[in-house]
Amino acid sequence: MNELKLYNTLTRKIETFKPIKKKQVGMYSCGPTVYNCAHIGNLRTFILNDLLKRTLIYNNYKVKHVMNITDVDDKTIKASQEENISLNELTTKYEKSFFQDVEELNIIKPNITLRATENIKEVINLIKILLEKSYAYKTSDGIYFSISKFKNYGKLAQLEKIKIKKSRVLTDEYDKTNPQDFALWKFHTSSDGDVFWETEIGRGRPGWHIECSAMAMKSLGKTFDIHSGAVDLMFPHHTNEIAQSEAATGKKFVNFWIHGEFLNMKEGKMSKSLGNILTLKEIKSQGFSPLHFRYLCLLTHYRKPLNFTFENLEAAKNTYERLKRKIIEIKKERLKGQDKTKYYNLTFLEAINDELNTPKAIQTLWQVVDDLNFDSKLKIKLIEKFDSVLGLGLKKIKEEKAKLPVYIKELIIGRQELRKQKKFAEADMLREKIKSLGYLIEDKPNGFEIRKVE
Ligand code: AMP
Ligand code: ZN
Repeated sequence: MNELKLYNTLTRKIETFKPIKKKQVGMYSCGPTVYNCAHIGNLRTFILNDLLKRTLIYNNYKVKHVMNITDVDDKTIKASQEENISLNELTTKYEKSFFQDVEELNIIKPNITLRATENIKEVINLIKILLEKSYAYKTSDGIYFSISKFKNYGKLAQLEKIKIKKSRVLTDEYDKTNPQDFALWKFHTSSDGDVFWETEIGRGRPGWHIECSAMAMKSLGKTFDIHSGAVDLMFPHHTNEIAQSEAATGKKFVNFWIHGEFLNMKEGKMSKSLGNILTLKEIKSQGFSPLHFRYLCLLTHYRKPLNFTFENLEAAKNTYERLKRKIIEIKKERLKGQDKTKYYNLTFLEAINDELNTPKAIQTLWQVVDDLNFDSKLKIKLIEKFDSVLGLGLKKIKEEKAKLPVYIKELIIGRQELRKQKKFAEADMLREKIKSLGYLIEDKPNGFEIRKVE
């Protein structure tokens, strides 16, 4: 039996994945805060969500994947004021940019995407329950969650040993070593401008943490299978999500918590506040495709930090392009050989089911590609099957006819002429000249092939 094993942050253990319903999985991923373009660190996490979902599907589960869009919080309001546009205008713009990145990275879109601003009713209902049960209390600036009332507060982030101070915090993100009562609802102040809802719990807007609890439970129920995000969300965000949800329902919120490590630059974590960010657009403008970046991400296990450098991206690009060329060759060669599908199928499944070990899975992919004793047609079928997990666009690979500059075309014609006249030494000299100009000619039984040197 080859069962899917996942590392569960809640228990700090590798566990066999068992869904609540037999063949169906409910999965929630914290989505982007749409206050500017996503950076490639954010995108590493969204590639992880996609990989997890694809692996579940590969294991024959039906997946209901839900993701939120944080389109109202401290950061979005501040950015809309700085850009001098409405909150809706700002968030619509960056949501569009996010989904463009998603498409280019071959990330399967979630089944359900929910915007926080369209789920205020659910947020209010949840806060009302917390008030009724005395987990929440009102002050002059908002409604807060009382963390000392919730017995297992901080279990996910292992905060048990930290002394809880009797203080509270209005901002969405706060000191990671200082657990405090946090705002569920923030009463309107002039600094929020025209961003507020007139509701039965007062005029104001939701805190960030309650948004995710409300949207997750609305679409997946009180208890569901998997919740994912990057490690920085463990505290306070996910810790607070658990507290609010479990206090309201009296039930376990989520069975499996999956957290991905950061993408780092040499100064440390890639983050907007450190100012060391790169967007997908920026790496594209330097000659890389989004799938080169995806390939790079898969070369590092998701629980290990990925140290980003352009040298690493260049290496990933070269290997990915070599992979594409090899696949084109395999498609052409039509070699009859052994059927090794069963063996490689198992090796690949063992790798991804070993808590998403993509470096090992990619190693298996290369073993298949390089196996000279494996039937070409079956090989291609298997590569395409593996790609349903890796999402590297390998199914769509076709030979791209090189667009040759006129001067290269003329040199090629000249070389062919020399070969016809059996002037091979001169023809070879021309081949070298063409090579020095960046194009490689390979003679084949029925003609020749030419490709650009990477
Ligand atoms: P945000 O748009 O800021 O809400 O972040 C979206 C996702 O990206 C969240 O799951 C964050 O935890 C994650 N994230 C932020 N910075 C990084 C990073 N440097 N590497 C990986 N994930 C990150
Ligand atoms: Zn969230």
